Parts: sequence; structure tokens; C-alpha cells
Amino acid sequence: MIDLRGKTALVTGASRGIGRAIALYLGRAGASVAVTDLLLEDRPQDLDILADYSALAGHFQKIDGVYTQSTAREIRDSGSASMAWAMDVTDSGQTAKVVEEVKTNLGPVDVLVNNAAIMENLARFENQQDEHWSRNLEVNLTGAFNCSKAIWSDMCDRGWGRIINISSITAAMGAEANPAYASSKAGLIGLTRSLALEGGRSGITVNAVLPGFIATEAMMLAGEERLSQYRERSAMKKLGRPEDVAGIVAFLTSDLAAFITGAAI
Ligand code: NAP
Repeated sequence: MIDLRGKTALVTGASRGIGRAIALYLGRAGASVAVTDLLLEDRPQDLDILADYSALAGHFQKIDGVYTQSTAREIRDSGSASMAWAMDVTDSGQTAKVVEEVKTNLGPVDVLVNNAAIMENLARFENQQDEHWSRNLEVNLTGAFNCSKAIWSDMCDRGWGRIINISSITAAMGAEANPAYASSKAGLIGLTRSLALEGGRSGITVNAVLPGFIATEAMMLAGEERLSQYRERSAMKKLGRPEDVAGIVAFLTSDLAAFITGAAI
């Protein structure tokens, strides 16, 4: 029932985890997919790193597995067009340039998924560094602003568009030892609702997805003790899968969700 043939999707931070699952899912639904991430080349994950972790704090940035090119290849193998681009969402010049290249190679962007984020630098509030606060806002919130800005006028001109912002349950609940992350993700809901109000008259829907704990490579770095606490805190007593988030995103891009906008799911 989700048929995205003839549509072009751009997913940020799509080399692994939730972004990769979304890119694959949209490709399977028939969309041409621009797979974008900071790094373009594939770099296999160093499994020794995963084995070493006992604590979450400060370690997220050490994950070393990106699969940007191979994600695009996998989508092509499934029968949809796909290409990979290196794109830093904090660089508005680069986002505009990549959007133009996507337009030339795959078509104008019909579906934008703002997924790229950082979750690093956990620290209690008194120990939060100014630069960590700024960096979280820059990547997680300004990054979505930059990418949305780059596709907005084209979407308005064509009278159809879907923007999905990957926020977080921390936007609703707060995050102990990570106020910068939770604040950036809450800001994303404000951006979602504002763009929904502006985009409605142009056939653009804008929605946010707030995942709970999802078993991505980044999340697995938390270590088993913390993961079991996360499982216990969740209603379903288990971690979600990246595909669980991808399914909601695919639904929001589809005609089934044509009258849903400004929602935070
Ligand atoms: P992930 O594996 O860390 O993926 C995030 C991707 O974004 C990485 O490939 C990262 O690249 C990339 N990225 C970072 N900074 C970037 C930048 N400036 N420009 C472009 N790309 C950038 O995380 P995930 O677990 O899949 O999470 C994906 C999304 O879901 C995020 O928005 C996250 O906040 C949200 N989320 C996740 C969970 C969860 O439990 N996993 C829960 C709630 C919300 P590098 O690693 O190379 O920096």
C-alpha cells in the first residue's frame, strides 16, 4: 500500500542505524533514494570497540561503522535508483549543493528525512560544556533547518512534499545527563509544527517521529547493563528495531498519511 514509485527521497545520516533502515525501506517502496552522511566511503565496524564498553558516557562518537556506498548499492540491488553523497548537515552551502546534485541525478526531492544527529558528550548539567550544547543544536536542529531550507522552494513549486524529522522520546520526557540532546530534539518539534503550518497550503506535510530506545549500533555501545535498564523502562519491555521507525516514516510519506501534518509520533 506504500507506493513511492516516481518519488525521490533524501535521507540524512543514512549510512547506518535508523537512517540506513529508512533509506532501505523507502527504496523498497519504489522511491529513488539519496543516501547521505558525513562520510561517503564504507568503513566496516570495529567489533572490538563494541566489546569494550561498560559505560555510555562519551563513547558514542567512537563507533566506526559507516555503510554509505553499500546502502545505496543495496537499494539499487532491490530495484530502485540510489546514489550516495557526503553531506554535512551543518554546512548550508553543502546541503544546497547536494540537493542540486540529487535533483540532476535522481530528480527533485519529494521526501526529506532529517535523521542525522549526534548523541555524544553525556554529562550532568553542571559539567556540560558550552561547546557540547552548541554542537547538539547545530547538528540536530540547525542541520534539519538547513536541509529543509534547501528543498523547500522546489517542494512548494511542485505542490507536494513530505518532511519527516527524527526527533526523540527525550523531547517529551527530558534526558538526564543529556539536556543539550533533549533540547535540540524538542526544538525539532517546534520546527516541525511551524513548517507544517506554512507547508500545508502547498501540499507539504511535516511530521516528527520520536523513537524510544532503538537497537542501533550507536545504542548498543551503552553496554548490556544499561540496555537491560532501557528494556525495563519501555512499555513493551524490549528495544525497538530500526525497521520499526522506518515503517512509521514510510507510512508518513504515503497517501495513507496525506492528511497528517504537524504530528509528533
Ligand atoms: P547513529 O547510528 O549515530 O546515526 C546517526 C548518523 O548521523 C551517523 O551516521 C552520523 O555520522 C551522522 N551524522 C552525525 N553528524 C552529522 C552531520 N553533521 N551531518 C551529517 N550526518 C551526521 O544514530 P541512530 O541510533 O541510528 O539514530 C538515528 C536518529 O534517531 C538520530 O536522529 C537519533 O537522535 C534518533 N534517535 C535514536 C534513538 C535510538 O535509540 N537509537 C532513539 C531516539 C532517537 P558519524 O557517526 O560519522 O558522525
